[in-house]
Amino acid sequence: MRNQGLGSWPVRRARKTPNDIALVHDGTPLTYAGLRDRVADLARALRELGTGPGDRVAYLGFNHPSFLQTLFATGMLGGVFVPLNARLTGPEIAYQLTDSGASVLVYAPTHAAVVGGLPVRATIGLEELERLPVSEPVDVPVELDDPCMIMYTSGTTGRPKGAMLTHGNITWNAVNVLIDHDLIADEVALVSAPLFHTAGLNMLTLPVLLKGGTCVLTTGFDPDATLDLVERHRITFMFGVPAMFQAVARAARWEAADLSSLRLLTCGGAPVPPSLIATYQARGLTFLQGYGMTEAAPGTLFLDAAHAVTKAGSAGVPHFFSDVKVVGPGLAEVQPGQPGEVVVKGPHVMPGYWGLPEETARSFTDGWFHTGDAARLDTDGYAYIVDRIKDVIISGGENIYPAEVENALLSDPDVLECAVIGVPHDRWGETGRAIVVPREGSGLTAERLLGSLAGRIAKYKLPTSVVFATEIPRNATGKILKARLRDLYGTE
Ligand code: ATP
Ligand code: MG
Repeated sequence: MRNQGLGSWPVRRARKTPNDIALVHDGTPLTYAGLRDRVADLARALRELGTGPGDRVAYLGFNHPSFLQTLFATGMLGGVFVPLNARLTGPEIAYQLTDSGASVLVYAPTHAAVVGGLPVRATIGLEELERLPVSEPVDVPVELDDPCMIMYTSGTTGRPKGAMLTHGNITWNAVNVLIDHDLIADEVALVSAPLFHTAGLNMLTLPVLLKGGTCVLTTGFDPDATLDLVERHRITFMFGVPAMFQAVARAARWEAADLSSLRLLTCGGAPVPPSLIATYQARGLTFLQGYGMTEAAPGTLFLDAAHAVTKAGSAGVPHFFSDVKVVGPGLAEVQPGQPGEVVVKGPHVMPGYWGLPEETARSFTDGWFHTGDAARLDTDGYAYIVDRIKDVIISGGENIYPAEVENALLSDPDVLECAVIGVPHDRWGETGRAIVVPREGSGLTAERLLGSLAGRIAKYKLPTSVVFATEIPRNATGKILKARLRDLYGTE
């Protein structure tokens, strides 16, 4: 086969396990042979539309088999897949289409109404694509170093940036996941995290498909439906951001649900509160933390099951083919216990941002990618992610990492959600302000909440004010939008 990239995966899989189920959506199964055939047809149809090596093919829609078919078909043609966040507004989608220079936009049946007028040469629904005349099979040479996809970052700290990931980046990440998660061919994964974000695609779906397991795709995420699906499909493996696992643990059926099939739960994408880990461990479940970012395709640190309890709260050690350091200025490694910036190097790290040479140059030093996140290492080399450096509050010369204060607040049973931001302060320059969503009917007061924190975290870290709110603004992956919170609540 001349194709070494992702486009070849369905063919390679169907050679081994043609009759195994690759995908289930809306109760309909698709075998690996079926996936191979659909991908081959779609690749021919995309070629009819003029797609060739290096051309960008965007996809718009929620989790649906056509997302993966378009990804693999684009890969067969040597094209570059551009997954779009289906929750974005029209202008935001238009920006990513223009920025990536996509020539074709494939959309899911749910998005037919919104594609008119977008800045792209051709928009095409899956049904239309399937009606295009079938021509010669596609056989394009693709190497691991060729670009595979432009995946936009979540846009938590600013405008999303297009991370240019090669076939090799995605493949090495999947190999890391297979090694470190001990994935087996009988895996049944529940994919309710969005495929258009890195974790749902690269930490869950693609590694499971590489190994020959089954992915159950859900259009959206619903906590009660999650528990039903776990029982119905005997789900073994799930990934979620902390907000998803929080919601599942608060679902009405949580206590009664049969979770005996679950072998592995992985959580990441945002700070993971220790109280959340404890809730799942109390149900006898293996609940592990991972840390990564779109630019690293994304798996960077992972805590193995053997250390789930002794190192609870840690994001673990680097994936097998990944190197991580915690550094100060000049890439000098900091002492254990001291916070520093996480930098990462490895075959899974992107070569750079699409169309942003200056941003790319700023993000790398000697091949190490600057994550912008702070962590501490313990004396065994286990990393504890502290927070984003951009969110650090500097109060009287002391650094306060909001995630640490949020974790303390979340251990109060009357706190449903919270976020801590910096606000100007005459004496200290800045102090923390807690935005708290209280449990309904709890009658929680600022005095009681802050009183319960005293003695548990250092005095300078205590928020000096509390604002009660009905919700915390989050982006599509469930991450707290700190910049929005600073706009809403950040002034005196
Ligand atoms: P943008 O780069 O556009 O601002 P983003 O950084 O949220 O958005 P992603 O690449 O989806 O985009 O997320 C990666 C970031 O998520 C990491 O840099 C880190 O800040 C955070 N993160 C991921 N895993 C963890 C974790 N286990 N604990 C704490 N933070 C995490
Ligand atoms: Mg980022």
